[in-house]
Amino acid sequence: MIKYVIAIDGPAAAGKSTVAKRVAKALNITYIDTGAMYRAFTLYVIEQGISPENQAASEACIPDVHIELKPSGEIYLNNKDVSQAIREPRVSSQVSYIASYKAIRLALVDLQRKMADKQSVVMDGRDIGTYVLPEANVKIYQIASVETRAVRRYEENLEKGIQTSLESVEEELRKRDYIDSHRDFAPLKPAPDSVLIDTSFMKVEDVVQRILDIVQKKTTVGA
Ligand code: C5P
Repeated sequence: MIKYVIAIDGPAAAGKSTVAKRVAKALNITYIDTGAMYRAFTLYVIEQGISPENQAASEACIPDVHIELKPSGEIYLNNKDVSQAIREPRVSSQVSYIASYKAIRLALVDLQRKMADKQSVVMDGRDIGTYVLPEANVKIYQIASVETRAVRRYEENLEKGIQTSLESVEEELRKRDYIDSHRDFAPLKPAPDSVLIDTSFMKVEDVVQRILDIVQKKTTVGA
């Protein structure tokens, strides 16, 4: 049986999770949302009354944070379903601070590698192809213009009943991308062997098909 390890990286709100879920479904393999893990950690820190900008206090939370991704897609933090709460602006605006702390990254990367060890996966994030799973058979770097990403995220928020303005969403995406690509440890950047897909003017199903075509080519014997 073929083991698929598919890494999808890229900036915030580039449509990675929508595409990754569909690719996973088409191949009947597990989807792992690593951003949700950094978000859950951030939620824990906020709920303790700690500022996510406080590195030492945030890192001290590591032993108390237990994160579980359910096969059905929900994310649990210390046995509580936090799938909705991690999408709130109070988490989105702070998560990049938490994700820049090396000790927290190492703890979450360890979990991510363990999940990919035992099964075929589509994993999305920022450092999957460069750091978490450098041996992935397929690496995608998915981008879209910041304006397109802001509109998509704004509309998603509206659907979920999350109150935001288009301007504040765009500002948050720009800030997050800046912090994510300028941190010292495992920053956001394309892996040299990744395939760049600009989704600004593409339909979701076309992006999914493009990735499935790449997967098929790479996993065909002799390719
Ligand atoms: O993918 P999502 O936008 O939900 O990720 C939230 C944040 O988590 C990112 O902005 C980034 O700071 C962090 N992250 C990361 N590495 C990953 C996945 C997410 O640093 N592999």
